[in-house]
Amino acid sequence: MNYAFIFAIILLLLAAWYAWRYYRLRQGVNEYASRVQGREIDTNIRELENLSGAVTSLLSTFNLQRSTLESERSRLATVLDQITDGVLIADEVGLIQFANPAAGRLFQFGDPIHHSITEVVRNHQLVEAWRRCQQTRQMQSESVELPTRHQYLQLVVIPDKHSSGSLLLAQDLTRLRRLETVRRDFVSNLSHELRTPLASLKALAETLQEGALEDPPAARRFVDQIQIEVDALTQMANELLELSRIESGRFALDRSPVAASDLLLSASRRMQVQAERANIALRVECADDLPEVQVDSQRLEQVLVNLIHNAVKFTRPGGEVVLLAAAADSGVRFAVRDTGIGIPAEEVSRIFERFYRVDKSRAGSGTGLGLSIAKHIVEAHGGKIWAESVEGQGSTFYFMIPQ
Ligand code: ADP
Repeated sequence: MNYAFIFAIILLLLAAWYAWRYYRLRQGVNEYASRVQGREIDTNIRELENLSGAVTSLLSTFNLQRSTLESERSRLATVLDQITDGVLIADEVGLIQFANPAAGRLFQFGDPIHHSITEVVRNHQLVEAWRRCQQTRQMQSESVELPTRHQYLQLVVIPDKHSSGSLLLAQDLTRLRRLETVRRDFVSNLSHELRTPLASLKALAETLQEGALEDPPAARRFVDQIQIEVDALTQMANELLELSRIESGRFALDRSPVAASDLLLSASRRMQVQAERANIALRVECADDLPEVQVDSQRLEQVLVNLIHNAVKFTRPGGEVVLLAAAADSGVRFAVRDTGIGIPAEEVSRIFERFYRVDKSRAGSGTGLGLSIAKHIVEAHGGKIWAESVEGQGSTFYFMIPQ
């Protein structure tokens, strides 16, 4: 009985010990599980944070790139809007997809978009250049004169690498071409102008050598003629020198207050003999109460002399040249009016260009420099010069000197 009781007690104690061990083990496992779980959550949170950081930096990089792209795009749009060269983009069949404002202006075509190249360009040679580019996928260039539009255009067609269309660049070379022609004309004019007086000087000298020296009245006539030729050559040399001085910037004005009437009277006195010789009446019409002008009187007198010289040269004997000055809004307006042969309307705007002469056959001697020198001088005074003329009736040259 006692043994059974002791055995039961031992069994009970063993069961209690096992129960206690089991409880500790569960407790340990639970603790471990919750520790592991916590670490996972931490790891997940850290990963999420990393991911959001990457997304944020990706977004800011994207925003930066987008704003750079936008500013580049707007810069490009401004350049395309402002440049004077025409830019067109055409697709493979020649329909315009893009045109900057200059292209519309150059081709004198309102809005070229969705119109064909043929319609916009309206020139066979230029359209052919585009066609050649489409066929060969090589850059093509063509220059054409468009007399009806008074233009000289250059078109460069470049194949578009990213599509089967092309890019067309149009340049207006009208002004350059005109300058080139004027310059080329000048060289031939100048050599012609030099050849004529030099040939006549040689002929006069030879005539004197061959016996005219023994005939005093004839010799005097020849010497007078030599003097005229030498004067013409001297004037040409002076004008060339003056122009080169003005254009190289070695040109300073020596201003002082002068009465407008004094300028007119002084220029008129200098040109009186020449006018009388040509049988042309030269007079001055000017109010006494005009304000004084702050000018380089020598240079301004030179402008007046150039204008009077032309007026006398292009007016038939018996005609009249009048020098005028009147107060204008912002200064004094001078004028030289003649009853001469006039200037064709389409040439009036060009006579102030360097080396330009309306009609070489009628101009007699002259280099075409006088008016461009006058223009430089007037503009250096802050003024402007212009002409009005009716062919066959006469011309008036005005220049305005601000107060
Ligand atoms: P030029 O030395 O040939 O006279 P200018 O520059 O003074 O050169 O004049 C340029 C051209 O303008 C002249 O060749 C002439 O054809 C024209 N011109 C100038 N003044 C007159 C005028 N008063 N009447 C008619 N034509 C003129």
